[in-house]
Amino acid sequence: MQRVALITKHEKARWIAPYLAPLGYAVFESSMFDTDILGTFSGEVERTLSPMDAALTKAKKACELTATDWGLGSEGSFGGGPAPGMINWNEELLCLYQASTEIAIYAHAAGPTSVQELTLNGRVPLKQKLLLLPKQRWILRTDQGVQKGLCAEQLLDRLEQITGTSQKIKIEPDLRAMHCPERQQMITKAAEDLVRRLSETCPQCQAFNFVVKEKQSGLPCTLCTLPTEQAKSWTRICDGCGCRHDEVVQQKGADPAHCQYCNP
Ligand SMILES: [Zn+2]
Ligand SMILES: [Zn+2]
Repeated sequence: MQRVALITKHEKARWIAPYLAPLGYAVFESSMFDTDILGTFSGEVERTLSPMDAALTKAKKACELTATDWGLGSEGSFGGGPAPGMINWNEELLCLYQASTEIAIYAHAAGPTSVQELTLNGRVPLKQKLLLLPKQRWILRTDQGVQKGLCAEQLLDRLEQITGTSQKIKIEPDLRAMHCPERQQMITKAAEDLVRRLSETCPQCQAFNFVVKEKQSGLPCTLCTLPTEQAKSWTRICDGCGCRHDEVVQQKGADPAHCQYCNP
């Protein structure tokens, strides 16, 4: 087994290790580096690195501090996505880094998430909202300070103690991996993407990550035969030797719904 170091205080190996084990990688956790230095969700430390740079930095640190050839960095982000402001979006990135070759493989997963800030005076009572996300933990901000990692029961208890006082109350989801089940699912999906990238190897040099990296659009419309934005082929590219492999789309033509001419 290849040992892979993952630096985390948030128990992330649980959602990654079972997927990498069948490929011969044993992910182990280390807390030798405080990843909060690179930024926190709750805002105490601002994030200055891009998610990719943050994940790579964590993976390199993991190698360095544990003297292991393989390091894994994980970085989650919230916001952005296809409809900012309308749909909450979560992206999870994993970076697997090998110190001896300096090769980094990035895997990711993204999708909508229902975790968001809660309001006290909505039409739906708070208790009902909390029931929709049963294992999610919460952060309570009041004039007295910040409390993190509160389960629904603890949160309601705390709120009961301070009702009637005229202080500002803010309830946010605790987005740390061990307290956010929706993130756990997304991290798992990113781990599956990493497995796919480790399983696809270059036919010439056997490097990992021989996956589709380019799209050639121009699949002709079935109605008017003009080229559309739909892919007519996909290209796998090797990061190691640069070898390319085209895969032509089997579909005869594009649905006119995707055609700029037939469906402008
Ligand atoms: Zn057309
Ligand atoms: Zn190659």
